[in-house]
Amino acid sequence: MSGTAGLVIAPEARIYDHGLRHPLRPQRVLLTWDLIAEYGIDREPHVVRLGAEPADDDTLMLVHTREFIEATRDAGHGIEGSWGRFGYGPGDNPIFDRMHEAGAIVAGASLAAARAVLRGEVAHAFNAAGGLHHAMPGRASGFCVYDDPAIAIAWMLARGVERIAYVDVDVHHGDGPQAIFWDDPRVLTVSIHEYAPEIGFFPGTGGPSERGGPNAPDSAVNLPLPPGTSDEGWLEAFRAAVPPIVRDFGPDVLVTQLGCDTHASDPLAHLGLTTNAYRAAASILHELAHDAAGGRWVATGGGGYQWARVVPRAWTIYFAEMAGVRPPDEIPEGWIERAEFELRGEVPTTLSEPPARSSPADEEAGAVASAALAHRFEPRAPDGGGPP
Ligand SMILES: [Zn+2]
Ligand SMILES: [Zn+2]
Repeated sequence: MSGTAGLVIAPEARIYDHGLRHPLRPQRVLLTWDLIAEYGIDREPHVVRLGAEPADDDTLMLVHTREFIEATRDAGHGIEGSWGRFGYGPGDNPIFDRMHEAGAIVAGASLAAARAVLRGEVAHAFNAAGGLHHAMPGRASGFCVYDDPAIAIAWMLARGVERIAYVDVDVHHGDGPQAIFWDDPRVLTVSIHEYAPEIGFFPGTGGPSERGGPNAPDSAVNLPLPPGTSDEGWLEAFRAAVPPIVRDFGPDVLVTQLGCDTHASDPLAHLGLTTNAYRAAASILHELAHDAAGGRWVATGGGGYQWARVVPRAWTIYFAEMAGVRPPDEIPEGWIERAEFELRGEVPTTLSEPPARSSPADEEAGAVASAALAHRFEPRAPDGGGPP
């Protein structure tokens, strides 16, 4: 498919760093930009590099409260306060230096992607640093300070975009955008994720009965998959449900959160995907952007905690699809050396992986997709009775 693709490069986003003992390492994004560059994808004639500025407070306030933004700024500058009520403290969301500035540049990078797409400078744009989909209007959550996908969506709505579809493939439920646009019929949120409340899997929401608020029925769609689901089940549910629901909604823009913590080796979750599923998902989303959203596709990164072995390969696969190029499967030697130096361990040498073994959990996929589809596309009985 043709069209131009933009890659947002915001080196300042490396300050989004919770510290060495935290799983969300900035290296995951830096190694992604590095692998894309090593393949030369960012220098393809129809690919542009986009810069970014930090989002200002007024833009952040499209989603977040002033009180939360001020707390984030103060806490990140060493000021004492009762920051726990804003989600900050030991655990998932430790206070780190320049938190506000870090969150603002990540949000600004997603805004740069949205701006370039709205202006028609590019058809598709990708902010690998973004996808912080757990942040809520008044508190940080799940490693996320400011909810950059929701901010980009709110910003586009404020500029007159009428309908936006948000598709979230992170292993965790996309609870932030769902909650923020819960009662807004202009935004469809679709999330496919691991769902295991019995083991307390984060964040615990995203069950099939969550379907949107009273003013926006059916504006939220959830595809909750059991632990162990592999490529086969994940792709079955994704293919069956996501394209028809998004097409039916008819968005002006498709926004995607491309977390890759669904990988079988991810330390924080329990799905069994390989990078082969990412290639398939990328292709389905690309086709969907053109079919259903006039080609307008704003993509962010997201979770993914195999920061050297998986994340850069996953997001290179997605960006290559956006750029319409097919990089060689063999990963360039120079990148492997740098990644192995940083990891102090071995990294895979190809983008693809051996096929995933199917799992008994895959058998649930059909029912999960049917449940999501059923209430939307239930055939209405024709006037005068049912079928003959
Ligand atoms: Zn395209
Ligand atoms: Zn995640």
